[in-house]
Amino acid sequence: MTPPGVPLASEHQRRAFRTRLLRWYRRNGRDLPWRRTADPYAIWLSEIMLQQTTVATVLPRWERFLGRWPTVEALAAAPLAEVLHEWSGLGYYARARNLHRAARAVAEEHNGRLPGSSAQLRELPGMGPYTAAAVASIAHGEPAAVLDANVERVLTRLTALEQDARSTAGKRHLREWAAALLHPRHPGDHNQGMMELGATVCTPRAPDCGTCPVAGFCLARQKGRPERYPLLPRRQPVERVREAAILLDRRGRFLVLHRRKDVSFGGMWELPRVRCAPEEDPVEAARRAAREAAGLATEHTEGPLLELRHTVMRSRIHLTLWRAQAPRGTVLPGPEHQEFRWVAPEHWLSLPKSSTQARIAGFLLEQGAKKVGTKGPLRA
Ligand code: SF4
Repeated sequence: MTPPGVPLASEHQRRAFRTRLLRWYRRNGRDLPWRRTADPYAIWLSEIMLQQTTVATVLPRWERFLGRWPTVEALAAAPLAEVLHEWSGLGYYARARNLHRAARAVAEEHNGRLPGSSAQLRELPGMGPYTAAAVASIAHGEPAAVLDANVERVLTRLTALEQDARSTAGKRHLREWAAALLHPRHPGDHNQGMMELGATVCTPRAPDCGTCPVAGFCLARQKGRPERYPLLPRRQPVERVREAAILLDRRGRFLVLHRRKDVSFGGMWELPRVRCAPEEDPVEAARRAAREAAGLATEHTEGPLLELRHTVMRSRIHLTLWRAQAPRGTVLPGPEHQEFRWVAPEHWLSLPKSSTQARIAGFLLEQGAKKVGTKGPLRA
């Protein structure tokens, strides 16, 4: 903790800090629909959607999702495929799968009511410490401090943390400070105030210290260059990856495969695809995709029909799409897939899929690919 003589060292200063933060949040916090409800389920849903996704994107999707499944029990009764489809475009589909699993656990083990304490919430599938603390403090007033990226940044600056915030000692420092500063009577608004401060004032590159309600307590500001915090280890280099996917055409329909639930992008439908080996010709890789993911040997391959670039975690992926007539024979899904279908592009659109595969599906539809294989090559 901070030695005497520097901001926030005394309980008296911490009380003043809480008062200023709370007043500022209540006057300046953004008016968001999930802040107008006390329904733990609706708050939980907003917290899950807001992880990795912007407020602007979440706003309409949160309302639509709640309109479709207004209670935990309604969500628990929904087929997973429909939930994943509703999640399309929000990315990070593990969130939707965990949400659905947790809803089923709440329906079966808690009579459809979300548990009231953060400790019980954490026993639900996929419920991490952040989400449990957020739901318990906002919906039930439990004094549980949240630590998300925004709060971590604010705390590293307030206390001028001179070590890696992700290290064991750094994490312990942040946990202790989050708990020490938490408002005991208004933990929900306090937590939201800290997150709001990080999202709107104490931003990563340009903290607006001139308008910050707690600037007088900030050690990083006293020292100068608060944007220097948090100190992080050097970033891992970006990995460049080439992938090849293949459109296997059988009488105007093409093959899509359903990924197993326990692998990455579990539950999604996709074209056969592989990662290219370092020197591998992408056409050869596309044929290999047909063999390894579907058990089909192809010969005449056309393309590339399309090239896509996208980023997943620290991988920058360059995907090329090829096409071939599907040979006769039985499809044998590879180790990452559990079933397959022959579909027209409009049918594929209605299946859960990653955003990259959705771009391919949209492209095929746009190109009039209903007659895939009976027209000339598609143009990107
Ligand atoms: Fe962040 Fe500046 Fe406020 Fe410190 S004074 S908490 S750096 S905005």
